[in-house]
Amino acid sequence: MSKRLFGKIALVGTGLIGSSLARIICREGLADHLAIASRSVETLKRAEELKLGDSNSTDANEAACGADLVIVSVPVGASGAAAEEIQPALKKGAILTDVGSAKVSVIAQMQPFVPEGVHFIPCNPLTGTEKSGGDAGLADLFENRWCILTPLEGTDPTALEKLSEFWRRCGSNIDTMDPQHHDMILALVSHLPHIIAYNIVGTADDLETVTKSKIIRYSATGFRDFTRLAASDPTMWRDMCLHNRDAILEMLARFFEDLASLQRAIRWGEGDKLFDLFTRARAIHSSIIEEGKNIDASGHFGQAVGHPQVARTSDRPFATTPARSLPT
Ligand code: NAP
Repeated sequence: MSKRLFGKIALVGTGLIGSSLARIICREGLADHLAIASRSVETLKRAEELKLGDSNSTDANEAACGADLVIVSVPVGASGAAAEEIQPALKKGAILTDVGSAKVSVIAQMQPFVPEGVHFIPCNPLTGTEKSGGDAGLADLFENRWCILTPLEGTDPTALEKLSEFWRRCGSNIDTMDPQHHDMILALVSHLPHIIAYNIVGTADDLETVTKSKIIRYSATGFRDFTRLAASDPTMWRDMCLHNRDAILEMLARFFEDLASLQRAIRWGEGDKLFDLFTRARAIHSSIIEEGKNIDASGHFGQAVGHPQVARTSDRPFATTPARSLPT
């Protein structure tokens, strides 16, 4: 089977995700030509030094010109402006996609600039590290990770299959779901944990009676896991809060309700209630492991194992949801 999938691929944005894609596109020979566009001259220069693409430009329009696949990999809040910039360059039949971690907002921002005949298929690779920028990119970042595609009504099945094949060649497992459902799930499994981490680290920082050296010395007791999440890129997480606001607020409301109940159980010494909750939480952890996910030595919790595959969310109910289901 030929390794090449596209004639020309254009990457707009060469941060952690964009540069990881560049590395794997080159390694796997997925395109005849990889055009890179970066906003700043410094980032572009570094992309050149890292030999991330066949051509490099600060002009996204120039990079996207004649491309068969255009991948927008910039902060969620900048995706509309990126789509507007490349609009004149998009050729008929091209696939336009993005990698933003909030889909409803990205679609609202980008869709008005998608020309007739261009296949716009948003997606989100569920991967990443707390690092950002082109130097942090890894060719195996997408290996055995889920990539969620959120095709819009009327999406061409051939284009959808081609983009799915692209992600499979990057090593990912594919799932498809509607954008609202994506945003709700991500609010729970990714955005809420990051917000809690930012908050708890902020609380520790504000505590005047505990010195920084003590926090550092004793952080292995649990706090360190929060600091790793809280080390994530501030631009990305600011954008996530602003652009997945409704889903995050819904999850925060549920979280506060449950926290109040936990607080009450602690206050009134309701040991049985605490024990039941902690037992249920432990079972959820076990079921995640059983569902084919693992925790590797570097703490990559939630990495799928086994061969890349395709699934629809409806085929795999959200099995780890405890008593209550997510709103759809
Ligand atoms: P990153 O490492 O910070 O890189 C961001 C890239 O976007 C850089 O090339 C940057 O260019 C460019 N950029 C920044 N602001 C811009 C603007 N206003 N207009 C145009 N370009 C701009 O970010 P990343 O982690 O790769 O994230 C990129 C996208 O992937 C985001 O939408 C994020 O939601 C999504 N995503 C991230 C992760 C993750 O864990 N990191 C996981 C899944 C999806 P300069 O360097 O020139 O400023």
